[in-house]
Amino acid sequence: MWRKELGASLNLNVDILPMDAPNRPQPRNGRDRTYLDALNYITVHETDNTRRGADADAHRRFLNNGGGTRRVSWHYTVDENKIWKHLRLNERGIHANAGNRQSVGIETCVDAGSDLNATRDRAARLVAVLLYDTGLPIDRVVQHNFWSGKNCPRRLRAGVLGVNWMDFINLVAGYLDLARKSVPKYLSEEVKEAEPDQVINDLQLDSIVREEGFEDDPHIGIPEELLSVDPEADLRV
Ligand SMILES: [Zn+2]
Repeated sequence: MWRKELGASLNLNVDILPMDAPNRPQPRNGRDRTYLDALNYITVHETDNTRRGADADAHRRFLNNGGGTRRVSWHYTVDENKIWKHLRLNERGIHANAGNRQSVGIETCVDAGSDLNATRDRAARLVAVLLYDTGLPIDRVVQHNFWSGKNCPRRLRAGVLGVNWMDFINLVAGYLDLARKSVPKYLSEEVKEAEPDQVINDLQLDSIVREEGFEDDPHIGIPEELLSVDPEADLRV
């Protein structure tokens, strides 16, 4: 497996919250808070919503309807079958206190009847792709607990179903290794013709890779200028 195949395996769907959504951070003291100060961390949550049917689609509706009374928002919702993306990577959500300013938030679903370990596996693949694309080291993958002391992601912290936080991080590391595998030469034509996956589109990396002629380099990641998030930048999907 390599980066594109890993990305394509995510079943990533995109529905970005409108800029005037009530659950986007509103200006405060004259400061626009639309964007991250910097993308320094990836914050992993669990929804804690065990209601049957509380899957990624349900949380997409929840966010699109204003994110409840607490007006919450985050970047990705993962369930056993798919992922919804709600915010761009350089935008700020409302999910992790001080982490809002400098992290991408991932919610993992824990709805009754769902395959929790399948959801964790999909989340690990998403995190691996994000690490690959951003160049962030794996120790920047943190729990919601890191920011506020909240017991989140609760089931992962407790090792429910035999998988704990370190197991999850090891899973991410394994997928990151796979993402970094070079494309075998004899498959290069096929890969060139393959549809770019949505994560690449999302970051406009595909055109950058092609223009710069780096397509044989699996370690390219995000160019320096995209890593330092410009508050005016808008990495369109
Ligand atoms: Zn949380």
